[in-house]
Amino acid sequence: MTTRSETRTTLDHLLTEIEHRNPAQPEFHQAAHEVLETLAPVIAARPEYAEPGLVERLVEPERQVLFRVPWQDDQGRVRVNRGFRVEFNSALGPYKGGLRFHPSVNLGVIKFLGFEQIFKNALTGLGIGGGKGGSDFDPHGRSDAEVMRFCQSFMTELYRHIGEHTDVPAGDIGVGGREIGYLFGQYRRITNRWEAGVLTGKGRGWGGSLIRPEATGYGNVLFAAAMLRERGEDLEGQTAVVSGSGNVAIYTIEKLTALGANAITCSDSSGYVVDEKGIDLDLLKQIKEVERGRVDAYAERRGSSARFVPGGRVWEVPADLALPSATQNELDENDAAALIRNGVKAVSEGANMPTTPEAVHLLQQAGVAFGPGKAANAGGVAVSALEMAQNHARTAWTAERVEEELASIMTSIHTTCHETAERYDAPGDYVTGANIAGFERVADAMLAQGVI
Ligand code: GLU
Repeated sequence: MTTRSETRTTLDHLLTEIEHRNPAQPEFHQAAHEVLETLAPVIAARPEYAEPGLVERLVEPERQVLFRVPWQDDQGRVRVNRGFRVEFNSALGPYKGGLRFHPSVNLGVIKFLGFEQIFKNALTGLGIGGGKGGSDFDPHGRSDAEVMRFCQSFMTELYRHIGEHTDVPAGDIGVGGREIGYLFGQYRRITNRWEAGVLTGKGRGWGGSLIRPEATGYGNVLFAAAMLRERGEDLEGQTAVVSGSGNVAIYTIEKLTALGANAITCSDSSGYVVDEKGIDLDLLKQIKEVERGRVDAYAERRGSSARFVPGGRVWEVPADLALPSATQNELDENDAAALIRNGVKAVSEGANMPTTPEAVHLLQQAGVAFGPGKAANAGGVAVSALEMAQNHARTAWTAERVEEELASIMTSIHTTCHETAERYDAPGDYVTGANIAGFERVADAMLAQGVI
């Protein structure tokens, strides 16, 4: 029987090896640390998980695809971007995860996202493996025609690697309904197949699920509500700071407002807006989704309740709840200290890995309920899996039905994380609960399926 401390030493060695074998991929190292550092209790308790090679296989993607994406801009100039698809783990189902188009994308970023996705998808309880992809293409300031040509070129390579039973991409930062439409069109043209289940996040008239656009934000609010309930509180009357102004942030604000909370901020890379009356969603949607503009335009048009703070971070605004919904490492230890000083009760991650490890530690030490992204933001991919189910059955569910399923999945993820944390002597620690519960599901499937 290995002890927890022996197991911890073995995992530490493996982490050092991961850093050597994957140089210059700090985000992937961070994601691997965050998971492996919490697994010692379960590996020590269940000898089958100590089997040599199990964790080593888990941290090595099954397949990584890198490709050139040439396209012509509106001036006729040839541009070259890099495309990625990391097919990380398919023990539970076809690889599933979004595509991110952002200049910060590189292999390490896609690997961190793909690694997180394995555990997130496992937590949903639905049959989906983990993968992620994207490009360093920057859609910002590009015309519709340029985005279309880029998406067509991207799919001209990607199509050979994906399929409804193989790998099912969706959106992420920089990839929304418009991009999924162009990608799907090109897939259909190349393959001559109307294969609805090859991509999720499609338009509602052609195979998309109702509530998919809302699902990540709605799900995160439901997760935050479940954490508060555990402490005898609810969302009614709570003030919330939300970062970001994309799909996740918008529908986080929508659900918070619907459940009686006051969401007072949103942000983008230029700074943030604070609106004491609560964010006016119609105005925000008009600016971000229709005009594809910046958040300072919101403050300009909203009137006296709102102000724009250039370059600032929403975490300096006093609030009961914080829902980081922009990008990785956007909430560091200084931000966490400010939130704690201002009496924050819960932090729930709508983005992937938005909180640095030091900040997570501070928040947990201070007794703040902390919901890690792989649990709290799993609603998006969960409804993607429901979209796949609808596509397979050639049917479409009502919005009410999808919302009910989403609510029950989020409640069950919360319960699973909570109970798992208690079982492994870490009551209230959702990070440990989520990592161990996700790991158990994937590891059991991998062990059953042999060394592959
Ligand atoms: N990009 C989202 C995530 O981080 C959704 C992925 C999907 O729907 O496949 O989970």
